[in-house]
Amino acid sequence: MDTPEDTIQTTAVRAEREPVNLLGLTLTGLEEYFRGIGERPFRAVQLLKWIHQQRITDFSAMTNLSRELRARLAAEAVVRLPEIVSTQKSTDGTIKWLVRVAADNCIEMVFIPDARRGTLCISSQVGCALNCTFCFTARQGFNRNLSSAEIIAQIWLARTLLENDSADRRVITNVVLMGMGEPLLNFENVVDALELMLEDNAHGFARRRVTLSTAGVVPKIDALRQRCRVSLAVSLHAPNDRLRDQLVPLNKRYPIRELLAACRRYVEDDARAKVTFEYVLLAGVNDSRQHARELAALLADLPAKVNLIPFNPFPNSGYQCPPAPVIDDFREVLMARRIMTITRKTRGGDIDAACGQLAGEVQARSRRVRLRNANRLATPGRTTVTLPPEQLQS
Ligand code: SAH
Repeated sequence: MDTPEDTIQTTAVRAEREPVNLLGLTLTGLEEYFRGIGERPFRAVQLLKWIHQQRITDFSAMTNLSRELRARLAAEAVVRLPEIVSTQKSTDGTIKWLVRVAADNCIEMVFIPDARRGTLCISSQVGCALNCTFCFTARQGFNRNLSSAEIIAQIWLARTLLENDSADRRVITNVVLMGMGEPLLNFENVVDALELMLEDNAHGFARRRVTLSTAGVVPKIDALRQRCRVSLAVSLHAPNDRLRDQLVPLNKRYPIRELLAACRRYVEDDARAKVTFEYVLLAGVNDSRQHARELAALLADLPAKVNLIPFNPFPNSGYQCPPAPVIDDFREVLMARRIMTITRKTRGGDIDAACGQLAGEVQARSRRVRLRNANRLATPGRTTVTLPPEQLQS
């Protein structure tokens, strides 16, 4: 067993080799860090402002810190960001960035501007383990969770890049966790990153302007309510368990009734809040009027709105997008039953940045997925992102 001396030594050696990345630390995390090195905790607020507001990564430029502290930070800490590998701009103004998070793994993030807002869609995992049948990200397999630093870095990078784009300066007004991955299966890192999004001394977004989308990890919906109540979106996609079991395999673990009960709890003491239900329309699978009626009945007594997402195709998906009149009919049925429903416009389709098209570059951990990928024709740079909703936020 390690003696205390051994432990101290190991920690010291590790600190020497691996500087701590301050980018992903929350206010509390930074306060602890400063206490740990014998500094006063108010340094945490100063650091947050330098890192997230001024977007300075070089400690020597942090002029309100003493010279000694700057030198100490330079020796044992870093503010390290992942690298942008490529930028693609759609004819509709949507921008997709490929971000390298390890030698052979990339994630994607997407900026979707419209007249009134600028929505940034970010990823929470490298790949995804959920295997929803209609989602391209699922086909990439799963590699690992992103750290809180890698999640908040996406906002840091996008804000910086958008501000420096002198031809087309845009502001991020909304953030959606609808890129690659299931955010509630990377709970602690996602919550830390959410805190940094909301924190006034960091990014300062209002709660309602940050939306987390989940396929329905029920216990974590309750946990999120306790820890960091941002806007909630739920990927429903089917009005009954029989169909949802097929499309979203996670449903076998957390069936619709339990999922909707968690949604109700999530908003029960907030009269203004609504849960957004995402529903990908798949031709001949879940797009009939009967499905719409069933869906309306399911959501009748919930503060809900529905985002219909016309299926975005990808090679060998086996699905098709329904024709426009079918989509309109589906929406009419819901609207007639007083369910607020929006059909999400497909954005960034020409650069594969639309919902469910984000793929990044994922070295899957499972042999099954690696084999499947190897047998498929490579489609370089193809990524599926869920494109955020114009009216996702009220
Ligand atoms: N795992 C989370 C976050 C990803 S969000 C979740 O499931 O909510 C990605 C969104 O895009 C989800 O609503 C997903 O169902 C949708 N989507 C996935 N593939 C799609 C496709 N091919 N076309 C349209 N939407 C798709």
